[in-house]
Amino acid sequence: MSIALISHHDCLLHRVASHHPEVPDRLAAIDDQLIASGIGILLRHYDAPLVTREQLERVHDVSYLDFVERSAPQDQEIICLDQGDTCLTEHSLTAASRAAGAPVLGVDLVMSKEAESVFCNVRPPGHHAERARAMGFCVYNNIAVGAAHALEEYKLSRVAVIDFDVHHGNGTEDIFRNDPRVLFCSTFQHPFYPHTGADTQTDHIVNVPLPGRTDGQAFREAVSQHWLPRLEAFAPELIMISAGFDAHREDEMSDFRLVEADYGWVTTELKKIAKRHAQGRIVSSLEGGYSLSALGRSVVAHIDALIGH
Ligand SMILES: [Zn+2]
Repeated sequence: MSIALISHHDCLLHRVASHHPEVPDRLAAIDDQLIASGIGILLRHYDAPLVTREQLERVHDVSYLDFVERSAPQDQEIICLDQGDTCLTEHSLTAASRAAGAPVLGVDLVMSKEAESVFCNVRPPGHHAERARAMGFCVYNNIAVGAAHALEEYKLSRVAVIDFDVHHGNGTEDIFRNDPRVLFCSTFQHPFYPHTGADTQTDHIVNVPLPGRTDGQAFREAVSQHWLPRLEAFAPELIMISAGFDAHREDEMSDFRLVEADYGWVTTELKKIAKRHAQGRIVSSLEGGYSLSALGRSVVAHIDALIGH
């Protein structure tokens, strides 16, 4: 069965202030590496749809969505939704609406068996966005919107959300804190931004804080020890991935030392679980990753593993 790539040129229109790391070139760096590796032609390409208000309201408060829409600038100015790193420009909400619509289409594709697995090459990222708060470059929580779509539209009762971004997925945890239909597994550098997750005590949230300088071997041991047994027991009907690549050793955003092969390894492990329990269904969506070359190469390793090479 085919692997789908969902993206949209509108995601390039979200501009950021100078020296901001979450740049449009991130998507182009991924596209370039997909072409150079020869993987691009193996994928079925889809345009990300705009998310609907109803889909957003499953995971965000109405008052927050109203605030975001009211805040969107109509001209060249840049406004910030939080203390300064989640900014909106003229076309940002369109980009954010495509980024949140992509995992929704991804869920539709895997549930209809049009694709076995999906990667969403979209921005802005989403996993820091809470029910009622923009944060850490994130406006809408893209992966949560997709997971909620799977729960509500397809009546799934077990969706696993995996987050291997170097930062804790505080937004996703906030949204699903009281929903045991979602098993949330996150590895993250600790102590580090956003300074959440290390003390969470909830059965369906598997947070694995790891110290700075964590390398691939330590990451793999943590995943094998903490995530995989819980995933096996949970038997997810669908696996969704908050795929951040800022734990790469070339990424100056963090102090982790993962390499492409580690992203390939964790993806292969998740694919094995998806094969056993979820008919192979995986929907992955881009989160962080700011070293452009390492980002592109890591996504190639991730998609290569989704394909099963
Ligand atoms: Zn991150």
